[in-house]
Amino acid sequence: MGAPRQHLFHPANAAGYRQAVGAAVDRLVDHLGSTTGRPLTGVTPREAATRVASVDLDRPLGGGADALDELSRLWLDDAIWFHEPTAAAHLNCPVVIPALAAEVFVSGVNASLDTFDQSAGATFIERHLVDWTAARIGYDAGADGIFTTGGTQSNLQALLLARDQTMNQQGAPADRLRILASADGHFSVQKAARMLGLGDAAVVPVPVDASRRMDPAALAAALADCAAAGDVPMAVVATAGTTDFGAIDPLPEVAALARAYGAWFHVDAAYGGGLLVSRRRRGWLDGIELSDSVAVDYHKTWFQPVSCSALLVRDGATLGHVTWHADYLNPKDSAHPNQVDKSLQTTRRFEALKLWMTLRVMGADAIGDLLDTVIDLTDAVAAELTAWPDIEVAAAPQISTIVFRYRPPGLDEPALARLNAAIRAELFDEGRALVAATRVDGRSHLKLTLLNPVATVADVLGVVEMVREAGRRIAGEPAAPSALRKPLAVAR
Ligand SMILES: *Cc1c(COP(=O)(O)O)cnc(C)c1O
Repeated sequence: MGAPRQHLFHPANAAGYRQAVGAAVDRLVDHLGSTTGRPLTGVTPREAATRVASVDLDRPLGGGADALDELSRLWLDDAIWFHEPTAAAHLNCPVVIPALAAEVFVSGVNASLDTFDQSAGATFIERHLVDWTAARIGYDAGADGIFTTGGTQSNLQALLLARDQTMNQQGAPADRLRILASADGHFSVQKAARMLGLGDAAVVPVPVDASRRMDPAALAAALADCAAAGDVPMAVVATAGTTDFGAIDPLPEVAALARAYGAWFHVDAAYGGGLLVSRRRRGWLDGIELSDSVAVDYHKTWFQPVSCSALLVRDGATLGHVTWHADYLNPKDSAHPNQVDKSLQTTRRFEALKLWMTLRVMGADAIGDLLDTVIDLTDAVAAELTAWPDIEVAAAPQISTIVFRYRPPGLDEPALARLNAAIRAELFDEGRALVAATRVDGRSHLKLTLLNPVATVADVLGVVEMVREAGRRIAGEPAAPSALRKPLAVAR
C-alpha cells in the first residue's frame, strides 16, 4: 500500500504508474479475448446491484491487483461489449485504438480546457479541430465552436444561442418563442426547451413524410401558423440522421424556410455527422453549410470513445451569449486566449485529443470508410430481409439502422407488441444479442443500429434469425420448414 503520495502521477512514481496502467491494459485485453460472440452475459439488475452493494468503500483493498479482480467480478465479467457484431442496439460504437492511446494523455496530463493557463497547446489542438470540422461543414472563416459532452449538450447550447439571438434582435417575449423540429427529432430538443424555461409547448413537432424526413410543406404550414398566432419561431431544428430511422431532413428546403422566417437554423447531426468524412456519401449532407449551428457526435459515427462531441456555429460571435467574465479565471483584460468563454462547462476534459490522434494516425478518409462500410452492411441486410415473410421492415434504411418487427400472421397489435418485447428481453437475458426497441406511429418495433465495421451480413442476419427463433418459441409456433428459411451464410 505504501504512503498515499506513492499513488500520485509524479516522476518519483513513474515505475508504479507504468505498472498500474500496464496491468489495467492487460486485464482489459484478457476480457476482450473472452467475449467471443456474446455481447453480454445477461446479468440481471438485481445481481449487478447486489454485487456492487456488497463493497465497503471505507475499506480499500490496497493492492491494484485485488482491485482489478474485484472490478472483474463486479463489472467486466458481465460488461456489454460493443465490438461484438451481436451488439446491435444503440448508437454507442466500437472505438478506434488511436483514440484509446490519446486517453492516456487526456487523463495523465489532466489538462483542463477552460483556460490557456491550464492547457497551453491543448487549447489550440481543440481550436484546430473545431476549425477543421467547420470547414468540412462548409462554414467560412467566421465560424467557431466548442467541444461538448454530447449531442444533448450541443443541442441545448445551440437553442440557448438561438433564444438569446432572437430575444436580442426581435425583443420577443419568452412565452411566444417556438422551436420547430421534426416529429422524429431527438428528445434532447424538448429537454433543452425545458431547461431554457420555454416549456414543453414551445416545441412544435413537424410531421414527417413516408421516408421519415421532415416534410417541408408541413414545415411551411407550421411556420405560417406560428406567425398567424403571433408566435415567434426562434429556431428550426433539422435532424441529419434521426435516431430511429437515420432520416436526414431536406436541409436546403428547411434552411430556406428558416431564413424566410428569421429563425435560427440548427442541424442536429449527432448521428449523421460522420458523413462529413465519407468519401461516397458526403452529398447526403448538402445544405448543412446553410445552417447557423451544427451538433456533431464524434462518439457515434466517428468511432470515438464517449464522450467526444462538438457544437459548431457559423458566426463565432454568437458564442458570446455564454460568456461570463470571472475575476479569478477569465477576466476581460486577460492576455491569454481561453475556451471557457464559449462553453457551458468550466473545468473541461481534453476530449478533442482523441479525435486529433485518430486523424493523425488514420486520417479522415479512414473514418469515413468505416462509416461507409456499416452503411453498405445495413443496405445489404435490409435487402436480404425483404425475402423474409415474417419480418416486417418499417422503412428503407437511410444510415445504419433497421427498424423492424417479427410479424407472424394472425396477431393483432397488442399481441405483436407483447411478442416483440418478449423476444428482445429473451435475447438480452440469455446474453445472445442486444437489440433495441422503439415505437413507430404508436406501434412497437425492434431496431438494429449497426455501427460495427467488422460485422458481416451473415452476423446481422444471424441476429434477426435469433429474433425469429425466439418469436416462434414464445408464440408457440412450430419451426418453419427449412426450405422456407433463408440461408445465413451470405458473404458480404
Ligand atoms: C444521440 C443523439 C443525440 C444525443 O446525443 P448524446 O451524445 O447522446 O447526448 C441527439 N440527437 C440525435 C439525433 C442523436 O442521435
